[in-house]
Amino acid sequence: MAVIEEIRCSNCGAPLTFNPGEIVATCRYCGFTQVIETGKAFELEHSMILNEYRPEQTDELVRNWMRGGFLKPGNLARSSKITEQNLIYLPFWVVSLDASSTYKGIFDRLTPPVEKEGKIEKEYNWLVLARKASDFPAREYKAPLEGKIQYDFRKIEGFAKVLNSEIEREEAVDIAKQQIESLHQFLVKQDVDRVIEMSTSFKVGDSVYLHAPVWFIVYEYKHERYNIFLDGATGTVLKGDVPTTKFGLI
Ligand SMILES: [Zn+2]
Repeated sequence: MAVIEEIRCSNCGAPLTFNPGEIVATCRYCGFTQVIETGKAFELEHSMILNEYRPEQTDELVRNWMRGGFLKPGNLARSSKITEQNLIYLPFWVVSLDASSTYKGIFDRLTPPVEKEGKIEKEYNWLVLARKASDFPAREYKAPLEGKIQYDFRKIEGFAKVLNSEIEREEAVDIAKQQIESLHQFLVKQDVDRVIEMSTSFKVGDSVYLHAPVWFIVYEYKHERYNIFLDGATGTVLKGDVPTTKFGLI
């Protein structure tokens, strides 16, 4: 179990609790965001996305999700009990990057095979989850960035939890580069069958620290517990565990 440590908020003096491994902490009393090690103010832009749902509304969203789609037990919505609904503001880094990959490869599907060259150039606002261990499906999550506003602690619900960052900006930039590079590798393989050479270069722009609302929901069905992640901005289920249904002979 992690030990919670405590320092004072450099802005208002309130106790600021944090867990080992956390690097940037936000005060829940005044919203001041500081670098834990130095106690100095965090200097990059800190934004947030607003949560649009109350706990009782998420209940309805979850039931609707349970009713839709294949492979769910027919009585899932009726027979499940929602036992936990926790609103958590997850920390992310939004890394702005221009990425450019040039490649050369062989297109085998023709006889004779042909050599092909190409270039992929894209601009990204790449989202990196600022937590080290998490079940959260970060790669499937598209934060509605157009709705982001400056971080305002008064907009955080009293019952919500705000998680601190465990990842520094430079590390987030590296992660973004790796992930974009593998995305480009995937794209290149759509164009050529064998890659002879490929190189990717980046132009790194600004990074924004962002808190985005996610509901961590637990439901019970036939005495088993299942998890759901629901986007607090859009009400969409990002990922939900489903009881296995048994088909075939009864
Ligand atoms: Zn404070």
